[in-house]
Amino acid sequence: MIRVRPAASCLRAFAAWAVAQDPKLRTVSAAEFAVPVELFPVVPEDVLAGAVIDGFPYEPPGEAPVESSAPEPAVEVSAAAGSPAGSGAVCDECGRGFSSARGLDTHRRQAHPEA
Ligand SMILES: [Zn+2]
Repeated sequence: MIRVRPAASCLRAFAAWAVAQDPKLRTVSAAEFAVPVELFPVVPEDVLAGAVIDGFPYEPPGEAPVESSAPEPAVEVSAAAGSPAGSGAVCDECGRGFSSARGLDTHRRQAHPEA
């Protein structure tokens, strides 16, 4: 289970989504939900905005991950060589890059709970 504490502004929307699931999501507390790991990827992104996931701030996809196919800006920064995510961290399970070690940690908990 992943513990999700939606932002106050998203709590109603999240709760509406949670009770629409089958089976319904359990609540951990008045403001926290237990989301099965397999269900987490389908949680609507807009109800997760500002949420706290397992104690870490939710990071929307697309912000931190580094797409190898994305067009690179024409930079001439030699320091970036050998560091896919610039100053960040790379998941050694799937190779995704993150702008921060915390982002990587959150990703690993969510994407590779068994790792
Ligand atoms: Zn990964």
